Amino acid sequence: MADGFAWTTHAAHIGLLPALVRTESWAAELPDDAQATRVSLIRLLALYSMYPSLLRHLVRSTRRILELGLRDTIQDNPPVWTAYLELEALVTERSSSGEADLEIRCYNPTCRKVDTQNSFSSCSSCFTTSYCSAECQKEHWKSGHKVECKALKSLRLEGKAPPVSAEDYGFATKLVIDEIGRRKEEIVRVWREDKPARTPVVSLNFFLDDPRGVLVAGSPSKYPPQGYSEFRQVREMWEDVISQDIHREHVIVGAYLPHGSTGKLHFLWLGIDDRLANDDSLSVVEKLVKTVELM
Ligand SMILES: [Zn+2]
Ligand SMILES: [Zn+2]
Repeated sequence: MADGFAWTTHAAHIGLLPALVRTESWAAELPDDAQATRVSLIRLLALYSMYPSLLRHLVRSTRRILELGLRDTIQDNPPVWTAYLELEALVTERSSSGEADLEIRCYNPTCRKVDTQNSFSSCSSCFTTSYCSAECQKEHWKSGHKVECKALKSLRLEGKAPPVSAEDYGFATKLVIDEIGRRKEEIVRVWREDKPARTPVVSLNFFLDDPRGVLVAGSPSKYPPQGYSEFRQVREMWEDVISQDIHREHVIVGAYLPHGSTGKLHFLWLGIDDRLANDDSLSVVEKLVKTVELM
């Protein structure tokens, strides 16, 4: 599942989630590993729900499951039910922030019609775009998708995930900052117990076992997330942050976002809160710690 992102989005689009829930009627006849696979797939969808390109399909799928009365059918199956409730809670929480356009729209930029009847079909080559009509697909193909589609397809053949779009990355970044705000007391407590010498660092790691994200008040190199294999890349990114002197006046946030078979680390930073900027009685580190407290 190296190409996790495109695959997951396409699977959600064509109705993977209602299909998984529907299999409950013959769950008793399924082998144990099929049961485990259902739970893993639900968690995979939960993990990727931080990206609007998948979230918009999940909003639709969960609504549909409710409307069809399928939700009640899984209540007596604890592993599936727990995974489903977790997914549903994440979808509700993330879709109610109002930060992203969660309509499913025609990818032809001159159209952008909303898919109200669940009738759009995807590009059968890259699975990442969908259209209201064959005309729109043709128009978008000529106006640029031809090149983009080829690039996406060759990435898939190489087993690589396509890049995360600016919209998806922006939304995920906002979620990371929100999560830090929500858990600031825990973060500040850890920092105060083990005072950072130079700069406070916090990492938020999202992976299959914990789609909501595991928060660590410390450097990502100190607590590598599961399945993490690119240490060199982290070191280089970290050295980049330091060489630009960003660490001197910013809280550094390492976010390990789901991407393909492993994930991708991003660094974000938070500057000192304006209210503290002129307070000479505080050290830079203390100002940064207080900045998170004020969030
Ligand atoms: Zn395509
Ligand atoms: Zn269209």
